[in-house]
Amino acid sequence: MPTNANRKLVILDRDGVINVDSDAFIKSPDEWVAIPGSLEAIARLNQAGYRVAIASNQSGIGRGLFDMAALNAMHEKMNRAAAAVGGRIDAVFFCPHTQEDECECRKPKPGMLQQIVERFEIDPEGTPVVGDSLRDLQAGAALGFATHLVLTGKGQKTLAGGNLPPNTKVHADLRTFALDFLAADHD
Ligand SMILES: [Mg+2]
Ligand SMILES: [Zn+2]
Repeated sequence: MPTNANRKLVILDRDGVINVDSDAFIKSPDEWVAIPGSLEAIARLNQAGYRVAIASNQSGIGRGLFDMAALNAMHEKMNRAAAAVGGRIDAVFFCPHTQEDECECRKPKPGMLQQIVERFEIDPEGTPVVGDSLRDLQAGAALGFATHLVLTGKGQKTLAGGNLPPNTKVHADLRTFALDFLAADHD
């Protein structure tokens, strides 16, 4: 099996990190709206040699709120918008299940992140997982990823709730994460 030369990867949650979140779920491309600066942050990470993968709970599928065609259309919109600013998202992993399904992929379980480890042949140590919810960080911490909280989406609430995994770094938004992370990378 050929080894992958580039193991520089950043793993992002989607809703509340890349796009504006909604308690009513993001169900259509029209509802998918980028957080200002998030796509440019992805482009900046790409330019520094990082690939970007998404790990996203999408229980709206399991709940019947939207279907795969709608999810694919959202991601086409996201990929086009990212490309327009020079960014590229290499893979989108999602969990379509609800809590009742008791799957292994729904965060805080680490199943999706484990799939990403295998697909990209990366070492969790030093690889950042960025999320706005505690379950994003818990899934990352379970496999030894570096955990990063952004304060967009549910992030403020998550910070106030405490119990963050040890050594979690906090950033205002994805733009700030990218600047902080890349600055530390060059130390
Ligand atoms: Mg989120
Ligand atoms: Zn699942």
